[in-house]
Amino acid sequence: MSPAYPLASLSSSNLFFSPLPPNHEPPAGKANHGRYMLTIPWSAASGHELAFDPLSGVLQYAVTCFEGMKCYKTDQGDLRLFRPEKNFDRFKRSAARLGLPNKWDNAELVDLLCKLLALEAPLVPTGDGSNLYIRPTLLETSEGYGIKETAFASEALLYVVTTLNLGKGLYASSEAPGKGIRLDACRDYIRAWPGGTGSYKLGANYGTVSVAKKPGFAMSLWLHSHDGEDYLSEAGAMNVWIIKQAADGYLEFITMGLDNGIVLPGITRESLIELLNDHASGKSSVPLPGLPTKLRVVERDISMSEIVTSIEDGSLKGMFGCGTGVVVVQIGEIQYQDKIHKIPHNPLIQILRDTVTGIQRGKIEHPWSHKV
Ligand code: PMP
Repeated sequence: MSPAYPLASLSSSNLFFSPLPPNHEPPAGKANHGRYMLTIPWSAASGHELAFDPLSGVLQYAVTCFEGMKCYKTDQGDLRLFRPEKNFDRFKRSAARLGLPNKWDNAELVDLLCKLLALEAPLVPTGDGSNLYIRPTLLETSEGYGIKETAFASEALLYVVTTLNLGKGLYASSEAPGKGIRLDACRDYIRAWPGGTGSYKLGANYGTVSVAKKPGFAMSLWLHSHDGEDYLSEAGAMNVWIIKQAADGYLEFITMGLDNGIVLPGITRESLIELLNDHASGKSSVPLPGLPTKLRVVERDISMSEIVTSIEDGSLKGMFGCGTGVVVVQIGEIQYQDKIHKIPHNPLIQILRDTVTGIQRGKIEHPWSHKV
């Protein structure tokens, strides 16, 4: 059993907000960091000084996992997080997969994060698409080389850094209504497979795949194959959906299921499933104007040949990705086997986007928006 990761019981000398050094200014065009970092070292032998060993688990075997979250400033100037405990639940799952300590108290970690954000408050930008990106990271600082006595790390470091997101780049350009992003369906590299680590947010899942992204495309569309068919997994840092007209008159919102552990269980994905199901059942507290009540959420495999044939027969009504970075973004084109497949535009995607961003920015009051 992995040991506990106490947060409050650490002495104040271990638990501190460290202003980043003045020479930390990033080069022009690079991400602008927040000024403070929350660091929480952990040691099986308490009181032990922590230092990075060249043979540490993180440096030798990439024993590291992370989370990605955002802090939003409302029009009234207060700060909000979006379902932060969900991120920290997933962080625990990832940590457990790596044998890192994972038994901290999530409410306490949210509280510490809020203290960090209070320090950064003046830096958090307002305006749609702008926010402070938050990167909680956990890694093994103890030796991870050779065959270990136990599968668990004896020393770890949890830290949280932030970067300013001023609504530029892919995520901003993808916000233009009607303009979808271009994806390259990748057959050269496979991101995840059944029994692998695709459903965990491990550093290793990201470091090995960035080489796959082709210029001119926003992200790679990851595929997994079985029985001679290529199936969609997810894309870059987002879960993917198709919208299809079913024969019984229902509009189907279809996304890959989580059963085989290939895709990351996205918090935006989970939130959309809840919003759409509530809308369909008629008991929703959040209006999704323009969406039919005759809709159905389906979690199942989607093959590339289904995409191609449903474009041809007209039943494909749109495609989008969702995640903390993009929120909800229309997919406009997919390159697959040297052909470009154009995906129909669907205005409902913008409604989903507006609803989620409305909740995130406190424009739509909702329990998912956590006051800092
Ligand atoms: N898939 C991958 C591979 C991701 O990195 C992310 C971003 N965390 C997502 C999906 C979307 O997850 P979320 O909605 O929690 O941001």
